[in-house]
Amino acid sequence: MGLQKSREWGNSMEKEKTLTRRKFLVRAAQGATSVAALPLIGMRRADTQEKPAEENNAVAGKKPITRVLGRTGIEIPIVNMGVMNADNPALVRRAFESGMRLFDTAAHYQRGRNEEMVGSVLRELKARDQAVIVTKVFLPPPQREIPAGQVKAFFLKTAEESLRRLKTDHVDVLFSHNVWTVDYLKNPGVLEALQQLKKQGKTRFVGFSTHMAMAECLDAAAGMGFYDVALASFNYSFHDYVPLHQALAKAAAAGMGLMAMKTQCQQDWYREEMPPELQAFYGGQVMHPALLKWALRHDFIACAVPGFVTFQQMEVDWACAFGIEYTPEERKFLEDRGVKLAMAAVCRRCGACASTCPRGADVPELVRAHMYAFSYGNPGHARQTLDVIPAGRGLDLCRDCDNCRAGCAGRVQVARRIGQLKEAYA
Ligand code: SF4
Ligand code: SF4
Repeated sequence: MGLQKSREWGNSMEKEKTLTRRKFLVRAAQGATSVAALPLIGMRRADTQEKPAEENNAVAGKKPITRVLGRTGIEIPIVNMGVMNADNPALVRRAFESGMRLFDTAAHYQRGRNEEMVGSVLRELKARDQAVIVTKVFLPPPQREIPAGQVKAFFLKTAEESLRRLKTDHVDVLFSHNVWTVDYLKNPGVLEALQQLKKQGKTRFVGFSTHMAMAECLDAAAGMGFYDVALASFNYSFHDYVPLHQALAKAAAAGMGLMAMKTQCQQDWYREEMPPELQAFYGGQVMHPALLKWALRHDFIACAVPGFVTFQQMEVDWACAFGIEYTPEERKFLEDRGVKLAMAAVCRRCGACASTCPRGADVPELVRAHMYAFSYGNPGHARQTLDVIPAGRGLDLCRDCDNCRAGCAGRVQVARRIGQLKEAYA
């Protein structure tokens, strides 16, 4: 696939001083049905008024590093756009014009508006044939036990709706979204639907995304030969988690194309977990490229899809596509003992907290909803996450519980996070 030359960039560093990566504003996402006043902690916004920064001299005239997405044969830059939290079409446009080619969205992101935005921008740019569209079908967990025929029908219907919103007759990769059990990975309804859509040319390739029990799912998928691509959380908090590294390497060796998400450790993690003096010392211009490069330096990862929401964030992330050697500051950041300790406080989605609530709340999903609200600044997606937790296992249980005893196998402050969720949503 031909890659458009990067546009020239200019005085971005000056502007970075005024447009900070983290902004303490709450975005009242449309579709958030009952978001109370969210605490102004660690929230960031997709500033729809923000204008593109000037051109970036650092990458002017250079070509991004590209890799091949496994057996799909699709060649893409190593950094692309995770569109989920973005609601500014100009940002999508700029991402494409800069040279990013893969756009990762999903049917349920912003209740379909995310796909509509991607479709509209690519249509305006007349760039559908130069772009790689990845989208996803999410079957809420309570419905995953329905008969396979109904699962298949749900997938077929949702995929058709996605095509309509994306204004295209096919996507490049269609994912089964948020897979955390091998049973669901192998659900006959999912497999039949994906196979049918592929045969019909409505998707060129099929895949799955996974946030929890990733090693097991990747390991199983490597042996199935069915899924062409997988999207997994992969960041520095997993630096010592050998089973995940092995599973990713095995999946890549089996020909799967691997995409990395949550590469910057769930965005604003450091506000809560990292000592203020380290935050001040390293700042976003060191920690973000360091974290993104760490993921990209694993060659089993074909590309990353960071979820930037501002032009400044995009520039920082995109610059990593042109070189993944660490600067001395980035290396120092990654080797800092305080940073490594803070990494133990990033949720790895291991699921070990599932049985720690004496009332039976779905603690891993509550922690995930917290991440969307307080780290991603996406209260609408947090609301959607809460809404699919079955009644009697969600925040409704927590309302009259004044002493949270749920806990983490690592150092995530689960009780504090659930307390913040209660303030915002209960
Ligand atoms: S909060 Fe802790 S125990 Fe729960 S999923 Fe995250 S890392 Fe695992
Ligand atoms: S607040 Fe109470 S009900 Fe909610 S997760 Fe914590 S212990 Fe369970």
